[in-house]
This record gives sequence, C-alpha cells and structure tokens, in this order.
Amino acid sequence: EVVEEAAEEEETAAAAAAVPVAAKHEKDYYPYILIGAGTASFAAMEAIREKDPSAAILIIGNEEIGPYMRPPLSKEMWFNKDEETTKNLSFKDWQGKERNIVLHGKETIQSIDQEALEKIESAESGVKLLTGATVEDLNIAEQSLTLNNGKVLKYGKVLLATGGVPKTLPVLKGAGEGKVTTFRSVEDFKKLHSLVESANKKIVIVGGGFLGSELAVAVSHYGKEKNVKVTQIFPEDGNMGLVFPRYLSKWTTSQVEQEGVNVKPNSRVASTKAVGEQVELTLENGEKVLADHVVVAVGIEANVELAKKAGLELDEQRGGVIVNAELQARRNVYCAGDMTSFHDVTLGRRRVEHYDNAILGGRVAGQNMASDKLHKPYKHQSMFWSDLGPHIGYEAVGILDSKLSTVSIWTKKPTVAAADAAAAEEVTKEESAAADKKDEGKRERATATPLPAEAVKVEDKEKYNKGLVLYLKDKKIVGLLMWNNFGKVEDARKILGQVYDTEKVEALVKPFGIHEE
Ligand code: FAD
Ligand code: NAD
Ligand code: NAD
Repeated sequence: EVVEEAAEEEETAAAAAAVPVAAKHEKDYYPYILIGAGTASFAAMEAIREKDPSAAILIIGNEEIGPYMRPPLSKEMWFNKDEETTKNLSFKDWQGKERNIVLHGKETIQSIDQEALEKIESAESGVKLLTGATVEDLNIAEQSLTLNNGKVLKYGKVLLATGGVPKTLPVLKGAGEGKVTTFRSVEDFKKLHSLVESANKKIVIVGGGFLGSELAVAVSHYGKEKNVKVTQIFPEDGNMGLVFPRYLSKWTTSQVEQEGVNVKPNSRVASTKAVGEQVELTLENGEKVLADHVVVAVGIEANVELAKKAGLELDEQRGGVIVNAELQARRNVYCAGDMTSFHDVTLGRRRVEHYDNAILGGRVAGQNMASDKLHKPYKHQSMFWSDLGPHIGYEAVGILDSKLSTVSIWTKKPTVAAADAAAAEEVTKEESAAADKKDEGKRERATATPLPAEAVKVEDKEKYNKGLVLYLKDKKIVGLLMWNNFGKVEDARKILGQVYDTEKVEALVKPFGIHEE
C-alpha cells in the first residue's frame, strides 16, 4: 500500500509540471524558441511564419552570424574569381548567379544581443536572432531554458537544432598549437582561406569523406597559382569509399588526383610532431609527410550535449536524439537536422547529415510546432549533392552505403559496374558469382549478383560520364546515386523503397535517360 501511495504522489507532481508555466505577454516568454541558428532552425522559422504570420520567434545561436549555408564553404567559395566576393561571403552558384551564404535578409530577422534581450518586456510578433549565446540547460517540465549568462527564458514550443560537432583524432595532438583545425563554420573557412593565400603552403587534409574530398579539390584549385600543395590522407581504398561502390570510389580518386591533390588512400596517421613551424605526420607505413597546416575531416558527432542533460532519449547506435516521425522528442520539444534520429516511414530509423534534410526536416518540425492538430510525418525524402572537380557532379536520395550491394547503369565505357567487394563476398555465398551481363551495344549491365573482383578493375583514363547507381538492402532499393545526371531527384524518390527486380530494370531506369546525350 505504501508503494502505491508514493507512485500516486509522483504522478500528480508530474502532471502539474506539464502544465505550461508561462502566459502570453509574460516577460521572457516566447511561444517559439529555436535553439541553434543553423539551417534547420531557419527552415523551421519560415514554416512557423507561413502557418502563423504574427508568431513571436526567438532563435538562439552561438556563432557570430545567423543561419547560413555551409555547402559553399567547401566548394563554390574557393572558386570565386575575385577576393571581394569571398570577403562578402558570396559565391557564384552553378547557374552563374551571385548569391550570399547568409540565408536571411534583415527584413525577416532582427539581430539582438543579450543586453537587448534583457530590455524586451513582452515578446512581439516577428523573428529575433540572439547570436553569440549558448543554451546551457533545458528544463522540459518547466518549459524553460538557461543561457550561458544564467538568463532563464520560457517557451511554448522549442526546437533543438544544434547540428554536429566535428570529430578529431587523438594522434594529431602532438602537432602543436593551432596547427590542426576542424572545418565547419564560416570562421573556419576564413582562417583556412587566409592561410592558403600565402604562397608555397603545404596543406594536409585527413579524411576521405564528403568534406575531406570536396575541400581537397577546392583548396588545391584555389592554391594552384600560389604553389599550394594539398595531400589527402584516409584509410579507405579511394575517395568517398564509405559511400560509393569500390570501382567508382577508385575512379573518383583518379579525378581528385587530376585536380592536383596528392591522395594517399589506405593510409592512417600513426604520429605527429612539431618540426619548427611545421608539422611532421608519420603514417602507419612509416612514410613522413610535412605540413604547414592540417585540416581534420573525419566526420561529426551529433551535438546532443544539451539534449542529454535534459534527459531526452538518445540513439546509441546512430547518435542523435530519438524523435518520432513527426520529429517530436517530447511534448512541445522538437528536433531537426544533423542531431536528429528520426523514424523514416519508408526506410526505417535514420540520422542524416545533409543540407536538404535540415531544410525539409526543419520545415516539418516548424509546421508541427505551429499547429497542435497537424501531426505531419516527415515523409519527404531529402536529397544531397556534391561536385568533385570538372568531371564529377552527383545528386542522391536514400541510403548510400558502400557496404550495400549496388547495381550500376552507365552510358559510356567502361560499362561494367559491380557491387562493392565486401558486399560481393556476402552475396556470393548465396548466389552464383556469375554476372548477369547483358550487352546492349551501348552498355553492359551488372545486377545485384556481383561480378568477380577482376571485373571491377577500371582503367584510370576511362570516364564515368553519366549513370545511375542503385543501392539494395533486403532486395529493396534504399538509395539512388545520379551521376552527372541532374534534375532526376523526383523520379528517384518514386523508386525508393521498391523491390528490385532484375527483369524490370529497363522500365525502372527509363526516366533517368541514361542513354540520352
Ligand atoms: P548546423 O547548420 O550545424 O546548425 C547548428 C547551429 O547550432 C550551429 O550554428 C551551432 O553553433 C549552434 N548550436 C549548437 N549548440 C548550441 C547551443 N547549445 N546554443 C546555441 N547554439 C548552439 N550538406 C549537403 O547536403 N550538401 C553539401 O554540399 C554540404 N556541404 C557541407 C560543407 C561543409 C563545409 C559543412 C561543414 C557541411 C556541409 N553539409 C552539406 C552538411 C550541412 O551543412 C549540414 O547537414 C547542415 O548544416 C545541418 O544543419 P543543422 O541546422 O542541423 O546544423
Ligand atoms: P564523413 O562522415 O563524410 O567522412 C568521414 C571520413 O573520415 C571517412 O570517409 C574517413 O575517410 C575519415 N576517417 C575516419 N577515421 C579516420 C582515421 N582514423 N584517419 C583518417 N581518416 C579517417 O564526414 P566529413 O567528410 O568529415 O564531413 C563532415 C560533415 O559535413 C558530414 O556530416 C558530411 O555529411 C557533411 N558534408 C556534406 C557534404 C555533401 O553532402 N556534399 C559536403 C561536405 C560536408
Ligand atoms: P537552392 O538553394 O535553390 O535549393 C534547391 C534545393 O536543393 C533545396 O531543396 C535545397 O535544400 C537543396 N540544396 C541546396 N544546396 C544543397 C546541397 N549542397 N546539398 C543538398 N541539398 C542542397 O539551391 P541551388 O544552389 O539553386 O541549386 C541546388 C540544386 O542545383 C541542387 O539540386 C543541385 O544538385 C543542382 N545542381 C545542378 C547542376 C547542373 O549542372 N544541372 C550543377 C550543380 C548543382
């Protein structure tokens, strides 16, 4: 009986705490607070305003400027023709249009500092952006949060969009103060850019994923005239080795090399030490590489520090905060962007670290925050894209993991495509290793049944002009990579989640116009 009583008491206390503590117009109360002034918060802000144009929204960010696009920082910004454009944080997009990385105009967002925030008596309609402030605590029962200066704010609905924190490697610690940096923010861009402006610099990039590969190409291009040398070191077989099938990753490496990058695949840093003003990196094979500066691009960790302290449920496997398909972690608490492990109703639980996911997820979170009745699931499949030098541009949807079996269709020679070697091993156990090759004059097709390893060999000079790679899991198509083939994302979305059938592949890939010039 005693136990029962205690339980009842606890329940009553919890129920009382769940009642919103603040009323409209109360000082330091905001109906919507968005934590993290990044891409996802920006998209959520726009979505809230569409549903509730007079909403009072407070965005809190700990960078010096408000929401901006990170993608150009490792691509377009290094291809600017004049320094003025770069200084203004502008870039030329792929259509030749000059744009700025900052996502908002002054008319939408009013920037304020902590002093100005203190003076606000009652939240008015409109968007306020508090920069240079960190949210240190979130009290879900009280619907309040605490800033780094101790200030407490109350919210009606809150979005956590704290993004990711770049990882680093302990082995790089010996390099000396300031010689090894990560790359995420506009500040990081400015520092690296000014470093590369002086001639004869040796830059080492550690990491062969999205960031390491894009940055290697971009910095090498920018530094060409200044005799800047870029070396890229990573453990995989080729650039983007965790994403592209093996043959394509290897070919991509040959293209990155053509951009002047000294690529060292199958390599790990074993130790580092300062040698005068430089850093000496010793690789596991004993080779030594000298650098004026090292950029480490070995992935990010979802930034869940705040969420963890607040007692939100974390995804131990993928990282990130666990939310449902409506991007809700708890009542009145939503998450979007890089730090979110969400339930994708087509592909299962996922965490995605791409721009469009932050935009689309941020939108859905914002829509749900602005309407208690909407309950909208995040179903729209986000896309991502990249380019690596003049011959490689791609768009993709779904899960791209080089461990999966793949089926590739290419326009021109070399026309042989294959599953990744690891996947090949896995599948060969059940299926015959004989490839289902079908010569149709213009091309050959590989199917989910992998080709023998020798068939994967690709000659460096040959090009993959235009193609499509399907990623398969449990016989279902879970990812599509459109290679030098833009504007097909909608078609790809339709195919995602479908069962792969060798017999029907012709019809399946028809919309992608692989054979059209
Ligand atoms: P972010 O944009 O990282 O925003 C989170 C913000 O929250 C940060 O400003 C952070 O400082 C702030 N913050 C964190 N904690 C707190 C706190 N407690 N209080 C206050 N503020 C806090 N994706 C693509 O799809 N295509 C690309 O080409 C591409 N290129 C990229 C290039 C670079 C150089 C980088 C770094 C990333 C790139 N990405 C790309 C990834 C893409 O930028 C991210 O997926 C996207 O920015 C995620 O948005 P977000 O809002 O979740 O997080
Ligand atoms: P990533 O996850 O794409 O790549 C991680 C890389 O780290 C691996 O490919 C591997 O080469 C490397 N690595 C891991 N352990 C290593 C070790 N011990 N030594 C050397 N290398 C090691 O992450 P990233 O490339 O750092 O990118 C950072 C973030 O920015 C990611 O969220 C990414 O999605 C995002 N981003 C996306 C794009 C795009 O979509 N086009 C472009 C740039 C950045
Ligand atoms: P935008 O700002 O108009 O956004 C268009 C869409 O792409 C949005 O949904 C946005 O969220 C998303 N997006 C923008 N940049 C992204 C990135 N780096 N990674 C993932 N998603 C991104 O963008 P924009 O600059 O006008 O154009 C981006 C689009 O253009 C992408 O679809 C890209 O693939 C395409 N593109 C086409 C060519 C080509 O030759 N046809 C070349 C490069 C890029």
